[in-house]
Amino acid sequence: MTNDKNCIFCKIAAGEIPAAKVYEDDKMLVFKDIEPKAKVHLLAIPKTHFAYLAEMDKEGSETVKYMLEKIPEIAAKNGLENGYRLVINQGADAGQTVFHLHMHILGGQTLDW
Ligand code: AMP
Ligand code: ZN
Repeated sequence: MTNDKNCIFCKIAAGEIPAAKVYEDDKMLVFKDIEPKAKVHLLAIPKTHFAYLAEMDKEGSETVKYMLEKIPEIAAKNGLENGYRLVINQGADAGQTVFHLHMHILGGQTLDW
């Protein structure tokens, strides 16, 4: 899927609303979460829009693989040398609030759960 004009993360990816970007290339963007739940809380998004893993097409899955390959170096450059947690919330029970697939990258402290 291409971009969804009502999606806040598509707007961030398009540069239409600001974000504290820490990494960007043609496939993905990483920016600081506006309400951090850990000392370091980044969000990594694919630039193309899909809401759930269940909606992921071949291009989406290639992008997700690419993101997983890039995240270690992005984490290391953002103070996460000591470790980090990746979280992908899916749907209501997980508390997903933005329906554009994203990976939370959490760390900079001991995560006690
Ligand atoms: P989730 O609950 O997994 O859907 O996570 C959505 C995350 O997006 C939350 O942690 C929000 O704090 C974050 N968020 C929402 N809007 C923005 C924004 N404009 N810039 C940065 N982070 C955002
Ligand atoms: Zn989107």
